[in-house]
Parts: sequence; structure tokens; C-alpha cells
Amino acid sequence: MCSVQEEDLENVPSELQNKTCKEKNRNGRICMKCSISPAVVVVRLNDPLCKSCFLAYFTHKFRATIGKSRAIKAGEKVLLAFSGGPSSSAMLHLVCEGLSDTAVKKLRFEPGLAFIDEGEVLKQSGEERAYYIEQIQRVANRTKFPFHLLKLEDIFSLGQCLQDDAKYCHKVEGEQTRNHQEKLKNLFDATSSMTAKEDLLRTLRGKLLLATARNIGYSKIMFADCASRISVRLLSDISQGRGGDLPYDTGFSDDRHGDVIFVRPMREFMTKEIGLYNFFHNVETVLIPTLGTMSHSHSSIDRLTENFVSGLQADFPFTVSTIFRTGDKLSVKEVSEDVAACALCGVPMSVNPTLLSTLTDSVSSVKLDTDAKNTPQSASDCCGGCGSGCSSSSSEQVLSKEDILDTFCYGCRLTLKDSKFTVSDLPSSVLEAATKVYHRAQMKEQIKDFLLDE
Ligand SMILES: [Zn+2]
Ligand SMILES: [Zn+2]
Repeated sequence: MCSVQEEDLENVPSELQNKTCKEKNRNGRICMKCSISPAVVVVRLNDPLCKSCFLAYFTHKFRATIGKSRAIKAGEKVLLAFSGGPSSSAMLHLVCEGLSDTAVKKLRFEPGLAFIDEGEVLKQSGEERAYYIEQIQRVANRTKFPFHLLKLEDIFSLGQCLQDDAKYCHKVEGEQTRNHQEKLKNLFDATSSMTAKEDLLRTLRGKLLLATARNIGYSKIMFADCASRISVRLLSDISQGRGGDLPYDTGFSDDRHGDVIFVRPMREFMTKEIGLYNFFHNVETVLIPTLGTMSHSHSSIDRLTENFVSGLQADFPFTVSTIFRTGDKLSVKEVSEDVAACALCGVPMSVNPTLLSTLTDSVSSVKLDTDAKNTPQSASDCCGGCGSGCSSSSSEQVLSKEDILDTFCYGCRLTLKDSKFTVSDLPSSVLEAATKVYHRAQMKEQIKDFLLDE
């Protein structure tokens, strides 16, 4: 996720040796905090710190980010989304340290660990997948936290089997697993652009973690997005028509799903600081290729934005913090219960869905009259029996691809409008949500003449 790229890292080993050989730092700089030890790192723009002051600063910042929000209560079950990358490995280490008996102020929640194997999407061989899982499992076992190994194709079997019953499921539903792998493969193969694939992967990942948290009883999920990642996300969200999702995608907590809240306790850290923390603590990371690995810097909006931000950051060290702080000023407008949520990503759709159709259609040049056929029916289309008769017959009807796109937010529509996916390749949870949103809109249209103006 976050890549360590700053030149300061390279200097660290020699600086450290210096510390042990002779007390005086090569550059003669003294830690600005304790004013005793020689500085070994420079944080922010020009703040020299010694190793122990840096680690204290890092841990304090993590605890302060969690504490400030007051989001996590004592005894609460929290699921850590662990990818093996530098940022989530650092997060795992901080949580382990925070729970140990030696911690100054002990963290008081109950963590669990979840890893998603995305091998099917990344087209990894069976051996590769097994190799990465083994590595992750080794790290996870050391923590003694409950570990949940998920596969992205599980998104198609949500509600059918819990991961804990995996062995049982494996025997009985081996055929079904292959079927799910096939569906996942089809869905990604049908989506041609890298931007759309990355977006879809992120959404499915979130959905799978959410479902797992609900199944097992976790009320929070911790994501390890760091400041550098969030700044990139902020700009790429805007470019992808997801400006309205910004406070959800980049803030400390994301409560779009209601019962399970996503939190980002690493959001104040730069990749460089995370790299230093991992280095000093010898934190083991497992590097697993992702969709964007080895791809050209112009292959997706995310990659391009990442390139742009890190390029600027190299010359202007305040780039990330400026973008980040600007994003922090955004907040979510109170949404009424009445607002429908996107059937794919779950973000509340405050903009009128019909207007959204028009907007996306003008981009994709789909004729507007196709929409007239698919959007909420007029009374004349009624079966005649009306009332419950209409809605019960329509609840069994299968939605077309266009109907389903109508239940998505603007960003998700843009993601999938060019995808050649078939409706049956979508996870059932998405189809269910889409049916619900669609029927709600239909019902609202039917009764709109009887509603009072707001
Ligand atoms: Zn110091
Ligand atoms: Zn959406």
C-alpha cells in the first residue's frame, strides 16, 4: 500500500552505528526533544529526533489519533484489516505493544486480525497464494489474536458459510468455491480499465470485511491508510466523481454502514515515518503484489495521482500535509434516514438518482429514453390489481444491468458503466441491495403525488 521511498531511510543504519560507536552524531545535531541524545531521524520538515524520542512520538501520535475520536470503547471487538504491507504491519505492532503489560496506558479493546487473499484477481498460481498465506499466517500466529483468513471470492458466499466453518464448507461446497472463483474472474475480466478494477477491488474488500465483522461480532474495523495514501485517495476520489464520498473515504471514521464503523488510526503518519518505525522495531512485513504492482504510472487514476503527489512531495515536503489538512476540513452533512445508499459502496446518495442517471448518461452517451423505460414506472404500468399485487410481482422480477446501475452512486456508475459484467456475476449482497433501492425508488415514484413537499 504505502511505499517507503525517502532518502532518510538509507542514512539510518550508519547513523545508528555511529550512535553506538561514539556519542556524537556525525552531523552534530542533537535531538530537539530530550536535548541529550544525538538525532538519528528528521521528522516533519526539519525536526531532529533521537531513536527513543521518535518512537515515543510515533506511539503517542497513534494513541492520540484513537483517543481524540473517542470512537473505540473499552472491551469493544475491533477487526484489524491486515495486508502484510508496511502500514498495516506497523499498525499491528502498535496494537500489540499497546496491549502488552508494559504499555504505559494500555489499549482496552479486543483485536482480531483479518487478511484477504486476492490471488484470484491477481491471477496468482495456487503455490503463490499458499506461499503468501503461509507468510501472513506466521505473522498472525505470533500475535495470538483471533485470525480470520478470507478469500475475495467469499464475497459470493456471504451468509452461506462463516469462515470458521471453512473446513466443512470446503468439502461440501468445493464445486461452489470454483463457481465463485469463476464469477470473480468474470467480473474483473469484464472490467477493462485499471482504474475501475482498483475501485471495484477496494469496494469488494470493504464489503467482505464488513460482512465478516458482522458475522463474528466486531463493531469496528481498523484500516491502515496513512497520510500519504489518504492524500492520494483524496485527489483520485475527486477525479473519479467521488467528491461526495471524501469525508467517508478519508476521515478518521466512516460510518456509512451504520452498525460497523471503519476507522483509520494510521492517518496521521507519512510513509517515511512508518518506514522508520518498522526499521527501528524490526517489524516484519510481507510484500504481496497488488493490482497496480509493476504497472505503468499512467495505468490508472490512482497510480497517476500517486506519482503526481510523491513527485511533488519530493520537492515540496508540505505537499501531503497540505492536501491532508484541506481534506480534514470536509465533514459529512447530516443525512436523513430517508436517503438511499449506493447498492455497491454503501455511501448515502444525497443527489437525486434520476439526475445521476442523466449525468452519467451524458458521459456514456447512453440514450435517455432507455432510462425512461427502466426508471420507476408510472401508474399506467401497473398490473391493475395494484397495491400489494404490484410490489409482490415486481420483487421477483430480475433487474437488468441498467436498473442495477441506477441504484449505484455516481462514482460506482462511472466505475462500472463500461464494464461488460453480467448481472449473475455480481455478489448476491449487491443484488439484494440493488433490488431494495430500486423498489424503494419505484414505490416513491408511485406515491409521490400524495407526499407533502418538504
Ligand atoms: Zn531524544
Ligand atoms: Zn457507490
